[in-house]
Amino acid sequence: MVSENLKAWYSRVPGCVAKRRARLVRHPSGGGGLFAWQVGVAAMYAEPPSPLARGIGPPGAGLSDEGAWARGVSPPLIRHAWRNQMGLGEREQTLVLIKPDALKVSLTGYILSQFSEFHTGLRFAGSKIVHVSRMIAEEHYAEHRGKGFYPSLIDYIMGRLHYPMEPEKRRVIALVYSGPDAIRKVRQITGPTNPHVARDNAPGTIRALGTVVPIKDAEGNVVGDRMDNLVHASANEADAEREVKLWFRPDEIMPYMRAYPTEVASKYYFYKDGQLLTQEEAGSVCLVAPGDLVWASDLDALENLLQGKPGPVTLESVAAKYLLNREGEPA
Ligand code: GDP
Ligand code: MG
Repeated sequence: MVSENLKAWYSRVPGCVAKRRARLVRHPSGGGGLFAWQVGVAAMYAEPPSPLARGIGPPGAGLSDEGAWARGVSPPLIRHAWRNQMGLGEREQTLVLIKPDALKVSLTGYILSQFSEFHTGLRFAGSKIVHVSRMIAEEHYAEHRGKGFYPSLIDYIMGRLHYPMEPEKRRVIALVYSGPDAIRKVRQITGPTNPHVARDNAPGTIRALGTVVPIKDAEGNVVGDRMDNLVHASANEADAEREVKLWFRPDEIMPYMRAYPTEVASKYYFYKDGQLLTQEEAGSVCLVAPGDLVWASDLDALENLLQGKPGPVTLESVAAKYLLNREGEPA
């Protein structure tokens, strides 16, 4: 039974799940008891997470449950802490790009405040300013390749349309947000793809502040349109995973926030003119060196490519993030 004092203590813990979890944290044998429970709760809310949480980690790693109980630690609560801190379970991640049109009209601060933890309960897991390469633009929008608006979409995300004469201003802000229901929450605040639809059906969303621009041919005839909709937001879990891994290396995301498996590389991988190499050549770029932390799926893809197997992803989708911000795109 939980004493009244303890109940009062737990009711002060943010979002107190402890009371509801009381039955879960008792060891089936009856061992552990309230001390283990308290240590578990403390570890659950520790910032950064308690080494105890890291000690147990995901299933299969670190301390065994028995070992944890023997040290007076509650494994169910620690595992809950681990999943929360690591961006797993009820945590999910989503990629946001603040596009060149938003930067041009100084909407960055507004957009960040719309997505702030105060409004959404989501937290930053990663952020950076990127001079968008053609390689990453084409990988990011691969699903639209061949469509009429594709060429202008690539020029748009690369900043070429909003800064035709000022390449130094061509950039996007790439962000990873993490938290429960992150994808849906961010999409809801972002609004519908078409800014005119957003204005009619979802006023107050970010994209309601965007615009639709006619695309004209050389004679000035309108041949299509372009949606300058200010932000990108991942549409679903599969897109979010692909996009977070496309734009960010694992070491650019806080360790406790990484949601996807990583591995440490044990050899070199170089890139040159669309080719993957394991030895340096004149003009090649080193993507990965031994000891580097990489997405496990990227390492699989690189090994498949070396063996000539058709990988689930292209070389460019792995390489693009390593080549970002190295040099400006040719005009
Ligand atoms: P999103 O996930 O809401 O951004 O929409 P999509 O993934 O379908 O499309 C990516 C981007 O391509 C959009 O944000 C638009 O800028 C552009 N786009 C998508 N569909 C169309 C279309 O039918 N016409 C035009 N002109 N642009 C589009
Ligand atoms: Mg999309």
